Amino acid sequence: MALCPGNCSFCAFGKNHTHFQNNRISENEFITKVTDFCKEGDLYGLYLMAMHEYDLDFYLKIIRQQKKW
Ligand code: SF4
Repeated sequence: MALCPGNCSFCAFGKNHTHFQNNRISENEFITKVTDFCKEGDLYGLYLMAMHEYDLDFYLKIIRQQKKW
């Protein structure tokens, strides 16, 4: 998560009004979280969203890793 330069007034991540601080979970933590969401087998969809500006290569890499599980 990061302060977003998109700065939409309705969004908690807008850089001019957010109280969040930049943070990124580890790849292992990400895999654990997604696995926990999916472990009951009844999840219809899992939507992953990213900030206005995001490292697309990292995003695609971690999604590919998760799809292997
Ligand atoms: S994350 Fe999306 S909705 Fe939020 S401020 Fe950025 S561009 Fe706007």
